[in-house]
Order: sequence, then C-alpha cells, then structure tokens
Amino acid sequence: MRDFALLIDVWYRQNKRNLPWRDTQNAYHIWLSEVILQQTRVDQGKNYYLKFIKNFPTIKDLALAPEDEVLKLWQGLGYYSRARNLHTAAKQILSNHDGHFPSNYSDIRQLKGVGDYTAAAIASFAFDLPHAVVDGNVFRVLSRYYNEDTPIDTTLGKKLFTEYANNLINKKDPASFNQAIMELGALVCTPKKAVCNTCPLNDSCQGLRANRVYELPVKSKKTKTRNRFFHYIYSEQNILLQKRTQKDIWENMYEFPLVEVEKQLTPSATKNVIEKTLGLIIEPSPIAEYKHILSHQHIFATFWKLKLNKPMDTSNYIQCNHSDLAEYAIPRLIDRFLEQVNSSSF
Ligand code: SF4
Repeated sequence: MRDFALLIDVWYRQNKRNLPWRDTQNAYHIWLSEVILQQTRVDQGKNYYLKFIKNFPTIKDLALAPEDEVLKLWQGLGYYSRARNLHTAAKQILSNHDGHFPSNYSDIRQLKGVGDYTAAAIASFAFDLPHAVVDGNVFRVLSRYYNEDTPIDTTLGKKLFTEYANNLINKKDPASFNQAIMELGALVCTPKKAVCNTCPLNDSCQGLRANRVYELPVKSKKTKTRNRFFHYIYSEQNILLQKRTQKDIWENMYEFPLVEVEKQLTPSATKNVIEKTLGLIIEPSPIAEYKHILSHQHIFATFWKLKLNKPMDTSNYIQCNHSDLAEYAIPRLIDRFLEQVNSSSF
C-alpha cells in the first residue's frame, strides 16, 4: 500500500499541471476551485475561478453580493444550483463562523452544497487533514487497480472505494496524495484511452493484468434522460424577459417568454397554444431550433418571433434592449440563440 502512495507521489511531482489553485492553502480559493471544477473542464474552469477571485476577493464579498451578480458571473458554466449553493454557503460562513472558513471536516461538510468529496478536498488541501477524496477519477483508478466490480453508484460501492482510498492515503501528506491520484485519473487512467504503459502503477494493477481496464468502473444504473420541449418568444425590438422562479433548471435566471409543452406539435398547433397561453401574437413559422443537452435533460427549444405592430399586453415582462441584456444572467441556450441573432438575420 505504501508503494501505491509512493509511486503516485513520485509521478505527480514530475507530471502535475500547474494550476492556479494548486499552490495555495487558502480554503476559500480551494473551495471555489472545487465547486467550479465539478462537471467543468479545467481550461474553462480556470477563467471562472480567476473571475470569481477578482470580483469577490473574500468570503464576505461573496456573501454580501446580490444573487443576480453571482449568477451572472457563473453564466455559461451550467449547473446553476452550484452557484446558488456557493452563495448560500458564503452567507453561512459569514454568520456562523465570523467569515472564517471552518477548519474541520464536519463543519465544512455542513456548508450548503458541500458533499463528502468537496469536504475531503478542502480538509486535506487547506488544513492537511487525512481525508481521502473520492471523485470520478479516483473511482476509476481504484476500480481498475483492484479489478473491483462493485458498482460505484451504490452505497456499498461508495463506502468500499472510500475505504480503499483512506487505507492508501499518505497521512503525512494527504493533500499531495489526493492531488496525485486525481491527476493520475485525469491524465493517465482516463476513461477511454488509459496510457497504461506510462502509468506508475502498471506493475501491480490488477485490472490491467486481467485485461479489464475498459470494463471498469462498473455502474449499476443508466441515468434516465428527460426530453422537454420549450418554445421561446423573441421580440427583436423591445426584448421581453422573465425570471425563472420555480424550482427547476436555471432557477432565478432570466429568459424570454416561454411555453413548455409535453410533446412536439405541428407549427400551427404550437402557434395556437403559445398565443392562447401567453396572449402574445407571433409569426407563423419558428425562426430557430436547438437541441440543448443538460446532464439529465434534453431540451428541444424552438424560437418564435413576436409579431410587430400588433397591440399586445407585455406589461408582465421586463423590457430591455440588446445592450441591457448583459446585466441579466441568462441560460446558455438563450445565449446561443442571441449569438446567432447577432451574427446573422432571421
Ligand atoms: S495501469 Fe492502466 S488501468 Fe491500471 S491504474 Fe494505470 S492507467 Fe489505470
């Protein structure tokens, strides 16, 4: 077991990427980077990390910022509940810990949006506490290394792999161990192109020996995907916006007037439904269609143009022009549409 920690430590020192959050023990910065990097590529996450630090240099700055400002800065990263949780947790730290990041695992774990993985990452990276991190990279490395079939998305699997990692961790330098195993998963033991010939663990890797690298890790269930059909109304002159207030994707972000339907209808039937539901009059044919993929949902979005010169009641909506739009946090889907509007004409 000591060999495992030693081998990956030597490899890590020679191969690690230089990332701005790697050489700090500032818990706030580490927390920000961990939340941003969940489900986000490192090169994309890096810019957001730097923007957040610049705009909110301290936890207090983040806690006291209006939610709209936090969401606006997060725009484009997706998974907006992470931004809302980040904001709520900053307020928790301000009111319960006097603005100082809590320094033990259980207090860190109490923060909104902080799960086992993030708590272990902050505890080890910022406070040198011996808590092993178990993220997707770690599951992959360990399931292959031990040729372990227990599904990683079960309670038993999570417990087992956490035990493996906690038994292997170098208690004298838990931060480096955690960084090293995650980096190995990100750069060498990758999902589809594992580079076993350069891997420091290849002599003792049981999955490699059994020729089962790509069968591991095992998952018990396939994630179900839900299809949704959104119809948005775009008005070229006075853009109409509304805030999404319901508990759903993009909560508290802004979007065009929307009608969601259960299934796709013909254009004329859809036009009828939209006009009846919203009391707005639209052109007969849609102007753009997108399939927008989220982790568990596929959004089939159709954009319709508001008919000009028709008297309509638009008083329920925020009305703004293109340059004002920069002040509102809007979903990436609407942004994609606006990019197309700006580069061409419909
Ligand atoms: S030898 Fe291959 S499968 Fe085993 S840990 Fe290394 S990269 Fe992963």
